[in-house]
Amino acid sequence: MQEDKIISCLAYNGKVNVRCIKSTNMVEKARTLHDLSPTATAALGRLLTITSLLGKEMKGEKGTITTQVKGNGPLGSMTAVADNEGNVKGYVSNPQLDIPLNPENGKLNVGEAVGKEGMIYIIKDIGLKEPYIGMTPIISGEIAEDFTNYFATSEQTPTVVALGVLVDKNGVKAAGGYLITLMPDAGEEEIVKIETALKNADSISKMLDDGKELIEIAETVTGESNLMYFEYDNIPSYECNCSKEKMEKSLITIGKEEIKDIIENEGKAELVCHFCNEKYLFSKDELEKLLN
Ligand code: ZN
Repeated sequence: MQEDKIISCLAYNGKVNVRCIKSTNMVEKARTLHDLSPTATAALGRLLTITSLLGKEMKGEKGTITTQVKGNGPLGSMTAVADNEGNVKGYVSNPQLDIPLNPENGKLNVGEAVGKEGMIYIIKDIGLKEPYIGMTPIISGEIAEDFTNYFATSEQTPTVVALGVLVDKNGVKAAGGYLITLMPDAGEEEIVKIETALKNADSISKMLDDGKELIEIAETVTGESNLMYFEYDNIPSYECNCSKEKMEKSLITIGKEEIKDIIENEGKAELVCHFCNEKYLFSKDELEKLLN
């Protein structure tokens, strides 16, 4: 299978910035890891895709971004975390949720699964004392529209967001997305050209499934054939960096009394990583050591 990839482009003499991602493999990995239903694959897949793209832009060597979608739908909440290489991980409350297709378009009903009410949260941590936290209400639960609203209201950057995950009976056929951001000097002329280009463009997952390269997609959605573009040489992937040490830290945060309680009642503790389902076992001895 073709590798996942992120590119960043400038169009119209730098007045417009376009970033594109192919995330098929990372979304497929999430699907198999969490045994996701098709609807959950589409929902979490879209969130993983945009989080990976935004992660790639984070400054600082240890910059990370966490996104959360907390809607009132049956899917429950979703969380994704990416590092500044675009490596991403995530989970969803109800991974096996199965709901009927959207009767209007016959597609997976992500909006209904996520819910039409709730909040999205974006937490950017670049190693400063306080992370940046942005939040905006959910608009449609379709993720892309919710992030478009986030960029417009919370970051005041007019941005077109497209995210797509194509699922068939064998798994993820294609997944990806793009962000088109207008720079302050972009004018009516550029806006009209982009609107026209977008009207004529297929969906992102269709273009990827047709085998289009990211650069071709960037050209198609901007209507500009003379892009300045930059392709990153790393391959973003679904990655979890959990370890027994990190699990130990989260055990400590539950407090002495709780740990004493576990020792007395269970005699051991088993912690499962939300992101990759790896199990970590702590014996009675290890728990007693933690108490000190
Ligand atoms: Zn893990």
